[in-house]
Order: sequence, then C-alpha cells, then structure tokens
Amino acid sequence: MRVTDLIRRKRDGGELTPDEIASLIRAYTRDEVPDYQISAWLMAILWRGMTRAEIAALTDAMLHSGEVLDFSDLPGRKVDKHSTGGVGDKTSLVVAPVAAAGGLRVPMISGRGLGHTGGTLDKLQSIPGFSVDLSLKEFHRVLGVCGCAMIGQTAEIAPADKKLYALRDVTGTVESPALICSSIMSKKLAEGIDALVLDVKVGSGAFMKREEDAANLADLLVETGTRMGKRVVALITDMDQPLGRAVGNALEVIEVLEVLDGRGPADLRDLCLELAAWMFLLGGSAASVAEGKSLAAEQIASGRAKEKFREIVRLQGGDSAVVDAPERLPRARHTFDVPSGGQGYVIATECEQFGTACVALGGGRAKKEDTIDPAVGLTVHRKVGDPVRRGETLCTLHYNDADRLDEARQLVETAYRFAPEPPSPRPLVRRVLGA
Ligand code: URA
Repeated sequence: MRVTDLIRRKRDGGELTPDEIASLIRAYTRDEVPDYQISAWLMAILWRGMTRAEIAALTDAMLHSGEVLDFSDLPGRKVDKHSTGGVGDKTSLVVAPVAAAGGLRVPMISGRGLGHTGGTLDKLQSIPGFSVDLSLKEFHRVLGVCGCAMIGQTAEIAPADKKLYALRDVTGTVESPALICSSIMSKKLAEGIDALVLDVKVGSGAFMKREEDAANLADLLVETGTRMGKRVVALITDMDQPLGRAVGNALEVIEVLEVLDGRGPADLRDLCLELAAWMFLLGGSAASVAEGKSLAAEQIASGRAKEKFREIVRLQGGDSAVVDAPERLPRARHTFDVPSGGQGYVIATECEQFGTACVALGGGRAKKEDTIDPAVGLTVHRKVGDPVRRGETLCTLHYNDADRLDEARQLVETAYRFAPEPPSPRPLVRRVLGA
C-alpha cells in the first residue's frame, strides 16, 4: 500500500476498497503512517465525501483497531447516549447517572473537545483526580459496581479513533459526516451495548448547520448501528444557542450538579429528561417516552441520580466532595461582563462563536499537545427570546490570561442578533429518527 496513492485517489474523488481502508487504519494505529499524511487524507475525505460502502469499511476498521467489549456477564440492558457535539452540551454527565440510577448499565466511551465544541472527557477531568483512562478490567469493575463507567478511547478500545479524533480537532477536518459517523460508531459499537440514543445537533453551534445535513448524518448513524444489531434512535436537537448557561469544563460540571439537584436551566433539564427517557425506552425499562421521562424525573427528584454521580466520581478516583461543594472545582481568577451593544429581544445567536470564545480563553486546543484550562469559560445570561437593554450584561467571561480576553470578548459581542419583537419559540427536539 502506497499511502500517497490513497490520498491522491480520494483527493480526485475516487473510491477506496475496504482492504485499502483497513490497511491504512491498521498502519496508522501502529504509528507506521505519519500524522501529516493522514491529515491530507482526512482533508480529502472532508471535501470529497465517502460512499456508504467506504463509511462502513472505515467504521469497521476503526472498531476493530481495538477490543470489542462484551459485558454479557453483567445483568441488565447496556444502553448509551452520544452527541455529535455542541456548545454547553453537558447532557452526558446528567443522563448517564440518571439512566444508571434507573437500572440501566451505561458503559460510556466519550471524546475530548472537538473544534469549537466541548467534550465529556475534558469536563470530567475538571473534577480533581477523576480518571478517564481506566483499564478494561477497571472499566468492567466500575460498570459492575455502580452501573455506569465513563472513559475515553484507549490503546485497548477504539485506539484508531483516539488518534484520528485528536488529529481532526486541530486540522479543520471535523465536519465530515463520514468521519463523524465512523468516529462515533466505532467507539459505541466497541462498548458492548444493546441500544444507543444519539443526539444529533443542528444549528449555528453544531457541525451540521442545516437540518437536512443533520438528518442525513442521523440516518447514517442509525443505519450503521442497526446494521450491527443495535437498537438505535437519533434525536435531532437545537444547537442555535448554547445549551444551558454554562460553557467551559468546570463551569459545566457545576451546572450538571444543579440539574442533578432538581434545579438548573429549563432547556438543559428538558433535553436531559428526553434523552434519558429514550434510553429507558430502548432499554426496556419504560413502555413509552412519557413513562421514560417520569422515570428519569424520579431519579433526580429522589436524589438517586446525584448519589449515582457521586459514586461514579469516587470509583473513578475523583474528589467526590465536589458534589456537595462545587467550589472545590477549578475556578478562574478573573471575570469580565460583556455588555450588550443592542437592545430589544435576542432573536438568534451565532452559537459557534461562544464555543470558539471558550477555546480562545484556553478551554480547548489549537494544537494536539495543548493542555486546556478547566476553569475558563462563559456564563450566558441572555438567551434567545430574552429582552435586553443596551449596556446590560449578555454574558460573563471567566478567564485566567488577560491576553486571551480580547478575542473572546469580540466573539461574544458579535454573536448576538437583536430585533424589536421576540422570535417565535422553536422546539428543542426537531425530529426523531429510527424510533
Ligand atoms: N463525537 C465523536 O465522538 N466524534 C465526532 O466526530 C463528533 C462527535
């Protein structure tokens, strides 16, 4: 196999065979192909796309780059949830303990921040001591003891995605349906799950800006999972503004704790209940979405979901005292209130700019080697539909490095659109596929 031939064929719009794709992924996973060649190949895929056969071959090759887990010795249905990526999207940290508290087993393999979007692993690691690098044995043990374990791709599980994910993050090659599908499904199919709930984000803060692109991605994801014998459902949900009010790793964990306490922003709470409800439905614990929602709400109201979160944090080596004392989480030294330049009602936001502002403050990576600052981020005070007067605070920036403030401030200032009349409300869940 000559790697340059494969790059050039994809660059020119040709198709690769399953064997070629498998060889390339195998070689890259073994460090036999350099990042610069794979970067070029990823960019060719982003521009040219992949056929369904190529996507299936890529997913399969990435899945089999590591172990495919089998948790059949553990009782109960294994169900997971995954998002295609958003801004302020911290639902995994809520729905995993809710689902586990309600009797499902949740073996969750997640990713780090990708592009302007946040990642579950980075959020979890803002909890002092929390380990997302469990061995297979530890993953199994934690899942057995408390019904949920949350880890990242490792050298043993989905190692190809571990490498490709980090590379895509910094090479502008995230927004390809083929690459998103193979990345998500290779991790999820390695988990040994029975069912999967997908949250496919659409809007100005999502990788898919248009509803038809989000629907195509959802269709691809559902088809891939179903072909592999899993029960899969995809909810297409709004990402035209940040979800909840917190953007940034430690700030988002604080908001998660609020939701687990029965408080927190309504949009975040509602979406968490909806996603958890589908997990219960697919896992056989509820007969309808409505019943699943009540079951999810009960886990929060009774405090069981919060206790489950505490248990997960403790079993994965984290400081479980943060659950009652969120002030133990990293906190930025400074804040800056961004004033409104307009007035009337907020009618829309350029949501991606909030995510990029968080990355600019140090909450995401520009290069693979970058370490992130877990404390920085944004508190969004004004959301779509809110009235606002000129000079009122739209958003608070939490920062440690004054040199990073200006770019973030400009991004947030220009992210808002105002009009004299409020917009008509839009549903959080736009469509459900695969139900
Ligand atoms: N989540 C993933 O795991 N991979 C992607 O490419 C996007 C979101």
